[in-house]
Amino acid sequence: MNDIPPRRRSMTYDDALTVARVWRDAGGSPNIELGALEPLLWKDGSLGPADLVAGLVRSGMIVSMTTNGSCLAANARALKAAGLSLLRISWHTTDPLTYREISGHGDYRDFWTGICTAVNVGLKISFNRTLLRGCCHDLPEQLNFVSSHNSRLKLHDLMWTPEISSVYGDLYQDWRPVVREFVLPRTRRVERIGHAIGRRRIRFHLHGGGHVEVKIGDAVNRNGNPCRDCQHRGVCLEEFGDYLRVEPELNGYFCYLRRDMRFSWREIIDAGPCASANLKRLLHSLTDGRTDALLRGGALRYILVPFCNYNCFVPGTSISWCHKTSGDFTFPGRPRRTDSHQHLIVLNQERSRSDEQPHYR
Ligand code: SF4
Repeated sequence: MNDIPPRRRSMTYDDALTVARVWRDAGGSPNIELGALEPLLWKDGSLGPADLVAGLVRSGMIVSMTTNGSCLAANARALKAAGLSLLRISWHTTDPLTYREISGHGDYRDFWTGICTAVNVGLKISFNRTLLRGCCHDLPEQLNFVSSHNSRLKLHDLMWTPEISSVYGDLYQDWRPVVREFVLPRTRRVERIGHAIGRRRIRFHLHGGGHVEVKIGDAVNRNGNPCRDCQHRGVCLEEFGDYLRVEPELNGYFCYLRRDMRFSWREIIDAGPCASANLKRLLHSLTDGRTDALLRGGALRYILVPFCNYNCFVPGTSISWCHKTSGDFTFPGRPRRTDSHQHLIVLNQERSRSDEQPHYR
């Protein structure tokens, strides 16, 4: 159905629905996320993203999506009509120049038009922002928007990758001082949220509406299998089972750092009537017997396409922050910058971190 080589093809409509059905038959939650890379680039013949959302909704799934917003204006109305339950928009800056520096070629006006269109058609919206050291000064503007639209802003940790390891400490921004400076003065209530599986969260309800949410990635218990013996346990901020990812060619895996632990959804669904039982057996062996917690509490996350139209760099550097770069995916090229442009890293190296003490473990 796709006119690109098999390893580069997108997930098919039929595969997407079949995996969801097997997951549900095994007792999986109805929640499914269409996420990174950019899901609005997906197509299968004449079918587009809204058709896939509608098909999954018809099959009983509750469908959410995470987008970079670049193609949102053209898709928002159809997504609303298809029954999308929540749209997450990656909104890392309110500054058009920084936006272009991050995305490579993105136009903030198009991005903003997409947000306004999504608001106008009545989609439920949440925003994702990855915290970068030295790049948080515009948060008040974002919080104003979140409050006035009774929306949600999730502040995400910068994820460690081997590619970014040499400068990770200079770019990582702990969420605590950010919350203390920008969010707490606007907060009317703090709520702590636990899950049977997945990272705990703290939600800061804002005066005037909306809330900010953080995930506690640095307080995860890593004494169980497979984290106990994982070489990445010192840098990993995920909790095993946060997500069960499904790639376009139907590889399934839990952690972006442990693609070596992937399994084949294709083999599972090819088992026909035994597919759900096989899935449960496999999850049992991979998750230390926490199968039911994972099925009920974990989220099925689809990576629909093996490519992206953005290649997100840390502004002012030639360093990609996208943790999908460690996968077998295609990103648009970007010009290398010279060392003299690494100003954010140099700036951060000169800053004191003495006030960054944890307060919300
Ligand atoms: S990468 Fe996966 S297995 Fe390793 S510590 Fe993180 S969650 Fe655990």
